[in-house]
Parts: sequence; structure tokens; C-alpha cells
Amino acid sequence: MNVLVINCGSSSLKYQLINSESEEVLAKGLCERIGIDGSAIAHQPAGGKKVKTEVALPNHTAAVKYVIEKLTDPEVGVIKSLDEIDAVGHRIVHGGEKFATSVVLDDEVIAAIEQCNDLAPLHNPANLIGINSCKEIMPGVPMVGVFDTAFHQTMPKKAYLYGLPLSYYEDYKVRRYGFHGTSHDFVSKRAAQILGKDVKELKIIVCHLGNGASVSAVKYGESVDTSMGLTPLEGLIMGTRSGDLDPAIITFVADKEGVGAEQVIDVCNKKSGVLGLSGGVSSDFRDLAEASAKGNEAAATTLETYAYRVGKYIGAYAAAMNGVDVIVFTAGVGENNAEVRTLIGQYIGFLGTNIDPEKNKLRGEEVILSDADAKVTVMVVPTNEELAIARETVRLVEA
Ligand code: AMP
Repeated sequence: MNVLVINCGSSSLKYQLINSESEEVLAKGLCERIGIDGSAIAHQPAGGKKVKTEVALPNHTAAVKYVIEKLTDPEVGVIKSLDEIDAVGHRIVHGGEKFATSVVLDDEVIAAIEQCNDLAPLHNPANLIGINSCKEIMPGVPMVGVFDTAFHQTMPKKAYLYGLPLSYYEDYKVRRYGFHGTSHDFVSKRAAQILGKDVKELKIIVCHLGNGASVSAVKYGESVDTSMGLTPLEGLIMGTRSGDLDPAIITFVADKEGVGAEQVIDVCNKKSGVLGLSGGVSSDFRDLAEASAKGNEAAATTLETYAYRVGKYIGAYAAAMNGVDVIVFTAGVGENNAEVRTLIGQYIGFLGTNIDPEKNKLRGEEVILSDADAKVTVMVVPTNEELAIARETVRLVEA
């Protein structure tokens, strides 16, 4: 079965066409600046070169049409016609409390997703536009929605409630939801598989350290806590997001700067994190490591502050599960950045991690970093959210 995996942002559309039998990516690409001047599509067939074409993409429906054109193009295409797309899997950011698993997208489900829009006003409407565009262009092709929040729906009340008046939860559903669930699910299961163990016997802490970053406590296969909250702003220090804050900071800074709270929240989302903390050096950890190596003190402090926060969360989640067997690093930074892993390693050695500095130098591959006799196994497991979405899509379409 060929599954088209779609990840729609407000002005972007990422796609992969995956053959579910071989799990091979047949082609992938990105449409950028949809609805804005200078829109373009970068398309790459398996084994071929990435080719960027500037093309007017006034809306997401136009982008989906263009993706199909590329996929069926005689030169850079990988299928002959639309008929060779057997199913579409959509990444959906927020499923609220309604969706604890992936679902086949029918009209009723789409309406229920719409009701979650206020929880993710930047992301869910874009996801829905992608769904509706595909429905228009590929009527009759089954579609599945895979939610970033679903895996964390197993969290107990004590983990998802905030210390706020209960009515905020009851009336507005203000609670911790967590994100990156597809990745935390995929990586924890894969880690268990690599170790030859049943995930239902393990207490795993997954550190998804990418541009967005979150940690989760996965106890016996279920998420029992995670660092992102009502929105993806809470938790770790990220590329441009602040992570945990004293909420009083928002109005304090708004008063000082003579702006509204919403503007400060915008800064917390887009100009904070390692970018803000380093005084604007970069949101990219490669640049920060380079600047730090050249003696930039703010960059060095930023990396230390980042690692300290991750270390604290690992400690907290070891306590939350009353123990930990496996700690896994994944996503851009977690998979590739040995320096950050070394800095984090300073705080978790007491658990008995015994990280081997030589193995820690490896990048972007499945590897066990700790010694064979370590009490807690530390690993790198590359994430693959698109493959996870394709697998979910096949599971539901074939059910
Ligand atoms: P992601 O959101 O998972 O794509 O992760 C993006 C982040 O991963 C970037 O901001 C980089 O800081 C980091 N990253 C990606 N590749 C490398 C690398 N080879 N070495 C160090 N950091 C990397």
C-alpha cells in the first residue's frame, strides 16, 4: 500500500509517499510560503536530487494538487497516477481529550477536530485545511488522522492537572496534553525492540530534543507524564520557545515594555529559548556549539542552561515512575549533538548510566551509549514520525 503522509502548517505542507510493505520513502518534499509571495515546492524522489521549483501556491488545495503533479510527473514522479495513492495519513497537532488514538477521518471526526481548534489555534485549522484539500482532490481515498497529543492521553490526573481552580479544567479543559506523542510512542517501542525486551516491562524516559523539545515518562508502554502542557510552550528550553516560566513574568514584562500579554507570549514562542538566551546567536545547536567553542560566553551558558533543564526533567521522571530502566535521546539535537548529550550526562550519572564517551561521539544512528553493566541503559534512537503515521494509517485502513 502507498501512503501519502501529510503534515500541514499554516503556510507549509510537508509530504512523504511511503510504501507500507517495504517502508521505503518513495518521494518526499515541502511546499513553502503557501498563500504568500515566493511560494515554492522542493520535491525529492528516492535516490534522486532535491529540486526546488518556484510556483504560485495560493492555498493548500493548490499545494496538494501540485504535490500530486510532482508525484505523477514523468521525470521526477514515482507513481503513474493518483490511483496509486491508497491512503493518506495526516498529522494533527491537537486532539484534546476526544482522541486517545488515531482515527479514520470521516465527517463526524473532522467536526470533532474542529472543536479542538481553540486549543491549538495556529496548528489545527491548518491541519484541517490539509484534510479538506485532500478530500477534495482524492475523494474516496481513505484518510487517517494521527494526533500529537493522543499518546499522552494515558497520563493520570495527578500528572495532567495544573494547580489552578478546578473549574478551569472543567469549563475550559485547561490541563496538560503533551505533544510529540507520535515520536515518544515510536521511539519508546523501538528502544524496547532494540533491547529485545517487552516495552510493557520497562520504565523509559524519552528525550525528544529537536527545535521543539519535550521529555516523557513512558511506564510499561504508556505515557504517564510529559513536559509540554496545554500548548507546546511548556517544559524544556527549546530552539525559540522559553519552556517553563513563572507565569507572573508575562504581565511583569508586558507592563515594563508597554505591550499586551499576547505580545510577550509571542516572544516566549518565537524569540526565546536558546535563540533568546544566547543573545540572538542562533536557535541552531550547531551554531551555538561553534560559538561556544570560539569563546562566546552567552552561547556556552545557554548550552549549560539547556542541558541542566533536561537533566532536571530526567530526575523528575525517574521519581515519577519510581525508577527508570532506559533513557533515550532522539530528534535533531538528541540524535546528533554529542556535546549536549555530554552536558546532560553530568546530571544523570547518579542513576548508574555509565555513558561511554567514545560511543557518545556517534551521530544519527541507533546506538547504546552506556556500558553493558550500566544500571540504566542510555540510547540514541532516531525518530521517524512520518513512518509512524504511515503505519498507523495502514493499521486503521486495513482494520
Ligand atoms: P529537529 O526539529 O528534530 O529537526 O531538530 C532540529 C535541530 O537539530 C537543529 O536546530 C539543530 O540544532 C539540531 N541538529 C541537527 N543536525 C545536527 C548535527 N549534525 N549536529 C548538531 N545538531 C544538529
